[in-house]
Amino acid sequence: MIGLVSVTAAGAAAAARLVAAWPDSTRCYDGPTADAIRRAWDECDQLVCFLATGATVRLVAPLLADKRSDPAVVCVDEAGRHAVALLGGHRDGTAAGCGANRLAEQVAGVLGASPVITTATDVTGVPGLDTLGLPVEGAVAAVSRALLDQEPVQVQVDVAWPLPALLGTAVQPDQSKPDQPRHRIVVTDRLLPADPHTVLLRPPSLVVGVGASRGVSADEVEQLIGAALVQAGLSVSSVGALATVHDKADEVGLVTLADRLGLPLSTFPASQLASVTVPNPSAAPLAAVGTPSVAEAAALVAAGADDLLVPKSKSAMATVAVARRAPRGRLTLVGLGPGARDLLAPRAIAELRSASVVIGLDQYLDQIRDLLRPGTRVLASGLGDEEARAQEAVTTARSGRSVALVGSGDAGVYAMASPALEFAGDDIDIDIVGIPGITANLAASALLGAPLGHDHAVVSLSDLHTPWEAIEARVRAVAVGDFVVTFYNPRSLNRRQQLPLALDILREHRPPTTPVGVVREATRADEQVLLTTLADLDVEVVDMRSVVIVGSTNTRAVAGRMVTPRGYRWMS
Ligand code: SAH
Repeated sequence: MIGLVSVTAAGAAAAARLVAAWPDSTRCYDGPTADAIRRAWDECDQLVCFLATGATVRLVAPLLADKRSDPAVVCVDEAGRHAVALLGGHRDGTAAGCGANRLAEQVAGVLGASPVITTATDVTGVPGLDTLGLPVEGAVAAVSRALLDQEPVQVQVDVAWPLPALLGTAVQPDQSKPDQPRHRIVVTDRLLPADPHTVLLRPPSLVVGVGASRGVSADEVEQLIGAALVQAGLSVSSVGALATVHDKADEVGLVTLADRLGLPLSTFPASQLASVTVPNPSAAPLAAVGTPSVAEAAALVAAGADDLLVPKSKSAMATVAVARRAPRGRLTLVGLGPGARDLLAPRAIAELRSASVVIGLDQYLDQIRDLLRPGTRVLASGLGDEEARAQEAVTTARSGRSVALVGSGDAGVYAMASPALEFAGDDIDIDIVGIPGITANLAASALLGAPLGHDHAVVSLSDLHTPWEAIEARVRAVAVGDFVVTFYNPRSLNRRQQLPLALDILREHRPPTTPVGVVREATRADEQVLLTTLADLDVEVVDMRSVVIVGSTNTRAVAGRMVTPRGYRWMS
């Protein structure tokens, strides 16, 4: 919820515009300003104050408690010129909504203002260590300073985990060299001695299996877990899940503790746990719930591990054991859209920025290189070795990294998503996420008018991977079915015959006056849009950077635009 606090008429008018834009997530606070801010502070995750920054600072100062839980605050000036991120810039990606930096951008977007952001890491494009999505401990200020000053920083990965690229200046630790950088980032679930130059990033790599007698308290289990981890030299910040047997799914102490720690409580059937070989089976749980091990077996099953990091330890009413889960890599299939930067989805940008490896055809990668975080590995391929690159993307994700496989338009349309998914096969061992992109077909259609207003088909005329007979059969079906058709890959230096053959087939079923659109380099610098007819089309204007859209028998040219009617008109 976004609380809106305004004092003047101009402020109230601007607040009303935010309410109109976000009716379900905004709430206005009236009355004496100090009182309004206090109520908004208590009830909202984000505040927009239509007030001077000075006045806002004075009013929120007595309310400040903790960087992690305080609401994000944005100030908007009286003229609506600036949206200033005042407090809580970074709190990105939490359930409570985005941080003030992002909120300032969103508010500025609605009001036509300029966002003002002063968090150093955001301004310079250096990733804030607290924005990587993992708990961070240690010398955050010192290492951030080193990053901003572009000093080399050692990155030591103890536990591989899918993370964004950490930094451009990262260097791998090399003990043989005497002058190792002073500043270090260590990705680890282990406890390390405090060091004024070291930051620890905590991947959620540990799974704690828990067995409990009825009525156990959350405190008892928490203490037992804490003691077991400390003794093994492991950090409680890296616990990613608790696991137990089905029968204990409702055990109040366990549910309360999972809640308190913000962790999922995974449960497994006793029969499954009973089938796991564990170091310390015992008779008590076998009698109570039907498996000789709960803590050890649940830790192993939930982590998908063969060995425990910490074998069972017990207190009066609980047992715990710890296993480490293999990193689960992430593969995103990201559509980059037809070319123009502002047709690339914000979600695609976020995924590109959270990947440490980006893979795709070189011409497409050039389109987005400036968006990548410093240090991102870019694997470009030329036309032809797409399959090999798709496989490399899956293999790299399987090694526990965060990989973005990109394609122009949509990555799943005549592009690398299919070979990647086929190669990934039936093993669900990585997270796979698709981010849709605006296809060449849609971009061309918008430029031409509304040629896709009724049923349409898309046919690739490339016979590199498909026999021409199959393509020809589809073109015939399209012709007979009277579909509007978009031809992808219509014509290249070596493939000149396919388009004329396809057009001849269509001419057998459509009048010579049928509108045809040719769009070359849609939304890119050299964009060309041509509206012609089946009779007049000169195929010489068509190349591999074009799509050709041929109308159905209902498609018309209206004021220079190609329009396919929606068809309801003809329904009886
Ligand atoms: N994944 C892409 C298609 C890749 S196949 C998509 O979803 O659009 C490559 C073919 O797409 C090219 O031969 C051309 O026919 C078409 N194409 C891609 N981008 C284009 C653009 N900006 N303008 C016109 N055609 C384009």
